Amino acid sequence: MADALLEVRDLRTYIGTRRGVVKAVDGATFSVRRGETLGIVGESGSGKSMTCLSILRLVPEPGGRIVGGQILFDGEDLLAKTPDEMRQLRGSRIAMILQDPMASLNPALTVGEQIAETLRLHRGLRGRALDDRIVELLRQVRVSDPERRVHAYPHQMSGGIRQRVAGAIAISCQPSLLIADEPTTSLDVTIQAQYLRLLKDIQRETGLAMVFVTHDLGIVAKLCDRVAVMYAGRIVETGTVRDMFNRPRHPYTIGLLNCLPTLRRGREPLTAIEGQPPDLAHVPSGCGFAPRCALAEPRCVETRPSLEAVATDHLVACRRAGETDGAAGRARCAPVAATPARPDTVAGHVVLEAQAVTKHFAVARGTILSRSVGTVKAVDGVDFALRRGETLGLVGESGCGKTTTARLVLRLERPTGGRILFRGRDIDALDGEGHGDSRRAIQAVFQDPYSSLNPRLTVGTTVGEPLRQTRPELGKSDVAGRVADSLARVGLSPRVAHDYPHELSGGQRQRVALARALTTNPECILLDEAVSALDVSIRAQVMNLLRDIQERSGVSYLFIAHDLAVVRYLSTRVGVMYLGKLVETAPSDELYAHPLHPYTQVLLSNALPSHPDDARDEVILTGEVPSAFDPPRGCRFHPRCPHAMPACTEIEPVLREQAPGHRVACHLFAS
Ligand code: SF4
Ligand code: SF4
Repeated sequence: MADALLEVRDLRTYIGTRRGVVKAVDGATFSVRRGETLGIVGESGSGKSMTCLSILRLVPEPGGRIVGGQILFDGEDLLAKTPDEMRQLRGSRIAMILQDPMASLNPALTVGEQIAETLRLHRGLRGRALDDRIVELLRQVRVSDPERRVHAYPHQMSGGIRQRVAGAIAISCQPSLLIADEPTTSLDVTIQAQYLRLLKDIQRETGLAMVFVTHDLGIVAKLCDRVAVMYAGRIVETGTVRDMFNRPRHPYTIGLLNCLPTLRRGREPLTAIEGQPPDLAHVPSGCGFAPRCALAEPRCVETRPSLEAVATDHLVACRRAGETDGAAGRARCAPVAATPARPDTVAGHVVLEAQAVTKHFAVARGTILSRSVGTVKAVDGVDFALRRGETLGLVGESGCGKTTTARLVLRLERPTGGRILFRGRDIDALDGEGHGDSRRAIQAVFQDPYSSLNPRLTVGTTVGEPLRQTRPELGKSDVAGRVADSLARVGLSPRVAHDYPHELSGGQRQRVALARALTTNPECILLDEAVSALDVSIRAQVMNLLRDIQERSGVSYLFIAHDLAVVRYLSTRVGVMYLGKLVETAPSDELYAHPLHPYTQVLLSNALPSHPDDARDEVILTGEVPSAFDPPRGCRFHPRCPHAMPACTEIEPVLREQAPGHRVACHLFAS
C-alpha cells in the first residue's frame, strides 16, 4: 500500500508451552495508513493482542518468539532493529494503551511523575517546561483540575480518569501511531462514550494513526475507517468499515454480524455460529474456520486460503469468497435457520417481589476505636415484581446497585430496609421447609463460570450439587439421571459429566453453570452478567439457549447486565438503575422506543451503533458516576443531568406511572 505508515506481512508469532507450540499469530497481513484508524476485531485467542505486542517487539519471554514475517513502520524494518532502538521508538513514535490502565501505570508514582518520565526520556524536558507540558497533556485528555491531579496516585482516580492518564502518557511525545488494545472494555457505557469521543478528538488534533483492537463490532462501526477481522491467528478479511458491514464476504465475518444483538434488531432471533474457535496449539490444517463453516468443502482443509482482493481495498481469505456476495450468498453462510420469533410468553403470577428494598453499608474508620464516618447507600428503596415466564432486565453502570440487589435476592446479604418476597412470603423470614423451597426455586448464574465452578469437582458433581443440598432424599441414580437431563437441556453431551471445568471452553462452562441452575427445576434464575464474558459467537448460542429454556419451561429470569442490546434481546421488561435507585421501569419495547428519564436517554444514545451509518445524536455526559458513599442530594443524577432544574438539587423524585407499566422518577414528569 503506497501511503501505508505500518505494513505487517505474514507475521508469525509462536509461543512454546507444555501443550505444544501455540501459533498465536500465524500469518497476519494488514496495513495502516497515516491518520486512519484500523480496527482489529476478533474473539478471545484470535491473536489480536499478540499481533500488537509483536509490532512493539514486546512478545512475552521466555517462550514467545516472532518466527517469521515483516513489520515495516514508516519504511523501517522493525524486526531488524536492536532492543535499544526499539526502546527509543516505543513511547516516542509508537505508543500503546492497554485494557487495564493499572497494568501500565505505576501505583507508587503520582500521575505527574509518570508523565514526566516519558517526557524526560524521549523529549529531554526539564523544569518549568516539563511541568507546563504535563498540565497541558492532562487538559488535552479532558482531565478536570489538572494542576491538582498531577499530584494524585492512580488508586485515587476512577477507571475512566486512569485510562485518560494512560492516554496522556501515550500521546505525550506526539507518536505517529497509537495502538489501543481494548482500552474501553472495562469502562461503563457513558465513560466509554466519553473516551471514544476523546480519542477521535485527539486524532483530529494530532493526525496520528490508530490501531484499535476490540472484540466489539459496535466500536468498529463507531470509530474505525478500516477493519481487519482475525480468526485463529490470521487476518481473514480486511477492508473499509462500510464494506465490512454492507458487503462482508468471509463466512466468519458474515456469521459475526448475524449473531450480534443490536438495539435495532431488538428481540429478533440471532443466528449463532455453531462450534468454537480452534485451540491454537492444534489448529486444523487448511482453513482454520473450516470446522464451523457451512460452506466448507474438501479443498478447504487441504491448504490455507490466502488473502485475495475481491474489490478495491477489500481482501478475503476464503476459497469460496466468489459465492458469498449479496444477500443470497450471505444466507448460504448461515443456513441453520434461527428459531423463528415467537410471541413473548404471557407473564403469569408474581414469583419474586422487592418492596422498598434498601441496603446500606456503614463505613467505619480506625481499628481499635473505630467510628462510623458515613453510609454507602448501595440499594435505596427499590421495588420490582418478577412474574412467571418473564425476564426482568436490570441495567445500569458500576455502583448502581444491581449486583447488591442480586445478592439480596440470593440472601447473600440481608436488607437494611424493605423486604423481598418469594411467592408472597418474606425470604428473610423463611426457615425449615420454606427456606429449602426458596433455595431450590431461586438459582443463579454468574459472569465468570470459571470462578463459580469448583475446579476440583467434575461437571457431574457440580451440576448435581444443588439437588443434593435441597433434595437429600434423592438416590444416586436419580441425581445422575437429573444431571444428564440438565446437561441435555443446555445442549451438552452426558459424557461431559466426567470432565473438569478446565477441560471445557468458556461457552461450555457457562452451559454447565446453567445446567447446575436448572437441575432443581427453579422458578427463577438470577443471571448476573451471565453472558458478558463470552465471545460474540458463543454469547449468541447461550442467549438463544436461555430464551429457548424459558419458552419451554416458563422459568423467570432476573437478568442483570450493562449491555443495552443484550438486555433488550433477553428482557420483556427493563428497570434502569442509577446510584442505588430505580429511575425508570417499562416493558422492554416501550423503554427502548420511548425512554423518558434523561439518564436512560443518555445510556441509549451512548450505546454502540450496529452499523457505521447508524448515526444518532450522542449526549456525552461530563464527569464520573458519583460515589454511593455520599450520593448527591435531591435527584442523584442532577450533577450530570442535561435537564437539571433548581428543584432537582433539593427534592428527590419518586417513580410515577406515565403510561401503562411505564414508571419514571424525574421532575420533568411530575404531574
Ligand atoms: S475457505 Fe472454505 S472453510 Fe474456509 S471460510 Fe472459505 S468456504 Fe469456509
Ligand atoms: S429530576 Fe431533574 S436532575 Fe433528575 S433526571 Fe429529572 S430533570 Fe434531571
